[in-house]
Amino acid sequence: MIYKNFQNLKLSALGMGTMRLPVISGDDSCVDQEAVNQMTSCAIQSGINYFDTAWGYHSGQSELAIGRALAAYPRESFYLADKFPGYDLSNMGKAKEIFEKQLEKCGVEYFDFYLFHNVCELNINQYLDRSYGTYAYLLEQKKNGRIRHLGFSAHGSCEVIERFLEAYGEAMEFCQLQINYLDWDFQEARKKVELLRKHGIPVWVMEPLRGGSLASLKPEHEARLRALRPDETIPAWAFRFLQSIPDVTVTLSGMSNLEQLKQNIATFETDKPLNETEMATLLSIAEEMVKKIALPCTACRYCTSHCPQGLNIPSLLALYNEHAFSNGGFIAPMAVSAIEEDKRPNACIGCRSCEAVCPQQIKISEAMADFSKMLGL
Ligand code: SF4
Ligand code: SF4
Repeated sequence: MIYKNFQNLKLSALGMGTMRLPVISGDDSCVDQEAVNQMTSCAIQSGINYFDTAWGYHSGQSELAIGRALAAYPRESFYLADKFPGYDLSNMGKAKEIFEKQLEKCGVEYFDFYLFHNVCELNINQYLDRSYGTYAYLLEQKKNGRIRHLGFSAHGSCEVIERFLEAYGEAMEFCQLQINYLDWDFQEARKKVELLRKHGIPVWVMEPLRGGSLASLKPEHEARLRALRPDETIPAWAFRFLQSIPDVTVTLSGMSNLEQLKQNIATFETDKPLNETEMATLLSIAEEMVKKIALPCTACRYCTSHCPQGLNIPSLLALYNEHAFSNGGFIAPMAVSAIEEDKRPNACIGCRSCEAVCPQQIKISEAMADFSKMLGL
């Protein structure tokens, strides 16, 4: 296992995520404890020392399951991360109640790592609103040793992350981001990493395989990669990509069975960052994948002043792309719900003034109608 230095700790470069634990009869809230115990034992024996859970995973069952599995090991032999569920606005103002419950559910006296969960467009104002007391409460827990390291995870834009850091950057020790070779340019992961570097904040990675969609590629793409590294598996390319980014400390993978776990552990036995040719090939494959589905908006903003409805067209198209590419998911619906109602895609009146000036000749009015349909607006 590769280890990375973080302050005075040595963290396993691969962390065990617990968002996609094995379940019984396909019921997401019915975690297979026996299988989780086995996976945890395999992880620990293989040198993984970082475990990540959250209030909402598996409808609240993830914290219980990983807590039970880890109870078999000395507390100082693993690092456990949990998160404040501010993605649900009804939790604002409940930091104390939730934190106490989380410790109880996980069966621990302290969390090694604790995060503001999912800082994004939807909750940034509430997260920054100090009257809820979240920040103050978490700082207090850090002072009394019940949180060892404080950080945040983010699905928001660079602007949102910047706002969060302006307010709380001083206390933030790490940041968890969705990084993979597909999102490197598509979802501005590269820019986000650069932003964090500027603030001196190390990066934790979530969704390295983009929810499993990078575990296998089209045959022609796989062939191009095999020609460069015949012995590398396709999922391993996603991890080698992350091993090539010096800012990355821990990569979390939400593994659903022992076989996936063993495969990922094998990849993290060796550090094999990509060379220039390999990186260029991988990113060109990513570009081709994105182009196939995504609208080619360059965010030039020529269209925005022509929209009688005042829609932020490039930002809506970026969300459209995310939604189309992910085949659904929660990110776009969440971001759109944070936009004022009269600025959402269904506010488009189909006048096509924007299309007359778009250098990419995007059929914007159709995209808005399509997006509204996808979101059920
Ligand atoms: S077609 Fe829709 S997005 Fe384009 S200018 Fe008209 S209202 Fe705005
Ligand atoms: S003009 Fe076209 S490419 Fe430019 S921001 Fe608008 S939609 Fe995107």
